[in-house]
Amino acid sequence: MPELPEVETIARGLDKRVAGDTVESVWIGSRKQPLKSPAGVIAATLEGKRIVRVHRAGKHIVFDLEGESPPSQTSTKRGGRAARGQTRQAASLQTAQWIVHLGMTGRMVVSEPAAEIAKHTHLIAKLASGRELRFIDPRMFGKLSVHLQSGGFDPGGVEPLEVSEEGFIALFRGRKTPIKSALLNQKLLRGVGNIYADESLFRAGIRPRRRAAAITRGQLGKLHAALQEVLGEAIALGGSSISDYVDADGEEGFFQLQHRVYGREGEPCLVCRTAIRRIILAGRSSHFCSKCQK
Ligand SMILES: [Zn+2]
Repeated sequence: MPELPEVETIARGLDKRVAGDTVESVWIGSRKQPLKSPAGVIAATLEGKRIVRVHRAGKHIVFDLEGESPPSQTSTKRGGRAARGQTRQAASLQTAQWIVHLGMTGRMVVSEPAAEIAKHTHLIAKLASGRELRFIDPRMFGKLSVHLQSGGFDPGGVEPLEVSEEGFIALFRGRKTPIKSALLNQKLLRGVGNIYADESLFRAGIRPRRRAAAITRGQLGKLHAALQEVLGEAIALGGSSISDYVDADGEEGFFQLQHRVYGREGEPCLVCRTAIRRIILAGRSSHFCSKCQK
C-alpha cells in the first residue's frame, strides 16, 4: 500500500509530466467500485479542463483543474461543449479538483496511446499532448472522485510535514489511546501509515503501546522531529516501495528506505543488537526495540 512518501513521489512525477496539459476526453470502465463520484460527473468535470498542478493531500493525489466547461450537474445551459471557447463572458473560469486515492494496488500512469491497455484499467483520460493518463487498480480499493466546491479538497487531519511542534504536541493531549494508534488516526494526522509510524517511534525512543497522553512534551517533540525526518528521507529516496505499483512512467519504481524496525522481527536492532519485537496493536503489526524504546 503506498504511503505518504510514495504518494508524494507519484504526485510530483505526475505534476512533472502532465501539468499544463489538457484533458480532451475521458473513458470510464463499467466497474463502479472505484468511483466515488458518478462516472458522468467525473467525465464532465475533467473534459476540457487544463491540469494546473498535481499535488498530494494526505494520501490523496489531487489534480487542480481549470477550464471553461462547467460540470454537467451544475450546468444551467445546454451545449456547454459547443459553446466552449466561444465567449469568455458566459463561461467564467471553472476550477475543480480530481481526487485519486490509490488504495492498495492502484496506479496512475502516463502512457502513450499505443501502449497496451492493462487489465483492470478503470479510467483513461486522453490529453491534448497525445498521451493518456490511466488509472489501473486490480483490487479496487482505490477511489476516484471530483471536488467541485470552492475552498479545495480537505482530507481532514493536519499535514505531518507541515505541522509545527506545538501543533503536533497538541494533537495528543488527553488521548488515552496508544501513541501508535494516535499516529495512524487520519483525523489527527493525514497520511501517516504503519511503516513510518513504527520507524518514527523507534527514532524517538518511544514504545508503540505507550499511552499518548502519558508521553512528555519533550518526547513528543522528538517524535515530531523523527516523523518529519523519516518522511523526508523516504521522499528524498523516491518513496520506499513494498508493493507492486509503479511510478508515473510505468517503470518499476522506488528505492527502499532502510527500515530500522519495520519488517525486521527477530533481527538485531541496528543500534543495540537486541532482537526486534513485533506485536499486534489495533489489528496492525508494530515493530520495536524493547531496549531502545521506552
Ligand atoms: Zn535497540
